[in-house]
Amino acid sequence: MATRLDGKALSEKLKKRCALESAALREAGTEPCLAVVLVGSDPASAVYVKNKKKDCEESGIRGESYEMPDTAEPKELFALIDKLNGRGDVHGILVQFPLPAQFDARAVLMAIDPKKDVDCFHPENVGLMTQGAPRFLPCTPAGVMALLDEYGIDPLGKECVVVGRSDIVGKPMAMLLLRRHATVTVAHSRTPDLARVCRRADILVSAAGKLGLITRDMVKQGAVVVDVAMNRTADGKLKGDALFDDIEPLCSYITPVPGGVGPMTRAILMQNTLTAAHGGKL
Ligand code: NAP
Repeated sequence: MATRLDGKALSEKLKKRCALESAALREAGTEPCLAVVLVGSDPASAVYVKNKKKDCEESGIRGESYEMPDTAEPKELFALIDKLNGRGDVHGILVQFPLPAQFDARAVLMAIDPKKDVDCFHPENVGLMTQGAPRFLPCTPAGVMALLDEYGIDPLGKECVVVGRSDIVGKPMAMLLLRRHATVTVAHSRTPDLARVCRRADILVSAAGKLGLITRDMVKQGAVVVDVAMNRTADGKLKGDALFDDIEPLCSYITPVPGGVGPMTRAILMQNTLTAAHGGKL
C-alpha cells in the first residue's frame, strides 16, 4: 500500500512556523499583511478567498479583503492595485482569478508590484525563478516540492513527467524539478500516447484538470504520483486526475485529493507573504 503524502498535516506545520515568523516580524515593528482582491461572484473563488483569510489568521498575517462586483470596470481594479502597490504596510497583493470577461488578465498581473506578487505570476518573478534566483516561489509547484522533501523523495536523477503546461502549474513545476536535477518531460493535450510517456515516470505530477485521466496502465510500479488537479464530480465531490483506488496499490507514494497539494499551495502563499514582508529575501 502506498504512503499518502499528507499535505494537510504538512501545511498545518508550515503555518505554525509562519505564525512564529510573523510574531518575530511584529516584534521588530513590521505587521505582515496580505491584500486579497475578489472581483465578481464566482462561488469557487469566494471559497478560495475565505480560505486565504483563515490561513492568514492561522499564520499571524493581517488579511485585508477587497470585493468588487461582476460589473466592475478595469480602471477601478487598476486604481485599487495602484493604491495597494503604494502602501508600505501591505506586503502581498493577490487578485483572485478568474476575472470577469471585461478584464485582461495579463494586464492585471503586470500591474501588481513584482515585490508584492506573492502568487509569483509576474513575468519578473517568473524570470527570476527560471534563472534559479527566485524572489518568490510559485505556490502550487513549491507546495509539491515541499511535500516531496518532507517525505525524503529526492528528484535528483529521477524521471519526472508533468502532465499539463499551464503558466501557473505545469511550466513552473517542470522548472522546480529541473532545478533539483530531475530529467523532466512535460506532457499536454497534444502528446501522443500519454500512457507510454507517463509510464516512464519515477515521479508523475498530474495537473490536467481531467477527471479519470490517469489510469492504472499509466503508472510504473513504485512510482510517486502527485495529483495537483481539483475536479468536481457530478455529485459535488473533489477528485484529482488519477483514479486513486486503482492506482494506489502500484505507487510508493501518492497524494490524496483533497488533502494533498491543495493545502500546500495555501501554506506557500503565506510563506511568500512573509518573504515579501522581509523585503523579498527568500
Ligand atoms: P489549465 O490551465 O487548464 O491547464 C491544463 C493543462 O493540462 C494544459 O496544459 C492542457 O494541455 C493539459 N491537458 C488537458 N487535457 C489533457 C489531456 N487529456 N492529456 C494531456 N494533457 C492535458 O489548468 P491549470 O490551471 O494548470 O490547473 C490544472 C488543474 O490543477 C486543475 O484541476 C486545477 O483546478 C488544479 N489546480 C490545483 C491547484 C492546487 O492548489 N491543488 C492549484 C492550481 C490548479 P494544453 O496546454 O495542450 O491545452
